[in-house]
Amino acid sequence: MILPGSTIGILGGGQLGRMMAMAAAELGYHVHIYCPEENCPASEVAKFTTVGDYDDAQELKRFAKSVDVVTYEFENIPAGPVIELKKFVSVLPDPSILAAAQHRVHEKQALRKLGVPTTEFAPVNSEKELKKALDTIGLPAVLKTARMGYDGKGQAMMRKAADVEKWIGGECILEGFIKFRMEISVIVARGTNGTIVCYPPVQNIHKNHILSETIAPAPITPPLARKAEKIACDIAKGLNLVGLLAVEMFITDKDKILVNELAPRPHNSGHWTLDACLTSQFEQTIRAVCGLPLGSTDRMCDARMINLIGNDVKEWESYLKKPTARLHLYGKKEARSGRKMGHVTLLSVKGKITMMN
Ligand code: AMP
Repeated sequence: MILPGSTIGILGGGQLGRMMAMAAAELGYHVHIYCPEENCPASEVAKFTTVGDYDDAQELKRFAKSVDVVTYEFENIPAGPVIELKKFVSVLPDPSILAAAQHRVHEKQALRKLGVPTTEFAPVNSEKELKKALDTIGLPAVLKTARMGYDGKGQAMMRKAADVEKWIGGECILEGFIKFRMEISVIVARGTNGTIVCYPPVQNIHKNHILSETIAPAPITPPLARKAEKIACDIAKGLNLVGLLAVEMFITDKDKILVNELAPRPHNSGHWTLDACLTSQFEQTIRAVCGLPLGSTDRMCDARMINLIGNDVKEWESYLKKPTARLHLYGKKEARSGRKMGHVTLLSVKGKITMMN
């Protein structure tokens, strides 16, 4: 067990690291952030920061030796150097899970191996392979870069055979396009002793491929919710997770659940847990990686989380005036378009979600 008073190292300095650092501080831990940028949102609330590149082996080694456990707050850190850190300190979730989540083909292959339903897919590394894959998977389909894709970046829609010309190069995956009726996610945590807890499935609404809103709980039947939770727990167990994992899923018209993506870290669709659950996803991560007992995931009330993206953040004051709104700003200076600046959670304290106009 890593006791309060110890130092937790976090790779990455964004808002997820910031909210993890705040949760760690509440439990009496110190936090050391490692990230390439000066003045990142997380280092504002952490005791130590190292500004260094993710492939600077020497700097990373120094960092690893200065902390008691390492975790991470975003996926696109090169897995190789993170695996190296295991020589000096425990890194949780295990970087093998990070490596799988970084590569869409490996991720889907790992899920298939666990018997988890996913979209139809084929690895595609050339225009010729794309043509062949389109023949097997059929239209419509989505072509995605295998690595570094997020928020819809590096994706091309294939609607007709001629769209093969939209070949984007590099290592890719072709996925059958799912006419889903809802996107949901389940956040699951697993402790060092194998205990598993999960949060209820939530509905995720995207705008321009970026998460716009999360509705908690997702408006789905209890049996479907239990099925989604079981899938997430099976994945956590199958991957031997220690830490927190977000599982993004599609629900089809026929109520089939297909897993789309994994993220072995706190997730934007779990921000509502800060204000509406007995234990937030951030505290849960800290508990899991430090070997503490996991906390209750019980929901105290229903909630609706709204991301404040780019100029949305200018509305911050109006949210403060709403009695059941909880505002979280990430301390970022520039409100660039598409940049997540903060979020607000509307709590259904009297049984009804506060509607925004
Ligand atoms: P991703 O980067 O895989 O999370 O994709 C971003 C968004 O694109 C998802 O949240 C979905 O709304 C949509 N999307 C991704 N893959 C598919 C698919 N195979 N079929 C339909 N929509 C998809």
